[in-house]
Amino acid sequence: MKKYVLNESTGTLHILGYCTHSTHKFDNAITFETEQEAYKFAGKHIKLCKLCERKKEAILKEQN
Ligand SMILES: [Zn+2]
Repeated sequence: MKKYVLNESTGTLHILGYCTHSTHKFDNAITFETEQEAYKFAGKHIKLCKLCERKKEAILKEQN
């Protein structure tokens, strides 16, 4: 399942459904199955969206 979506024009990687930016398709969106796949494709200059990162950490914390 494609879970990560990269906005190439801003270099921001979102996790689908984790923030308002990733709930709809934007122009130049490229999707990936894993975070690593996105970094392999676009390089280290891209960054994970702050909102998505916070939600990811909150979910991880809940699971532990
Ligand atoms: Zn996001």
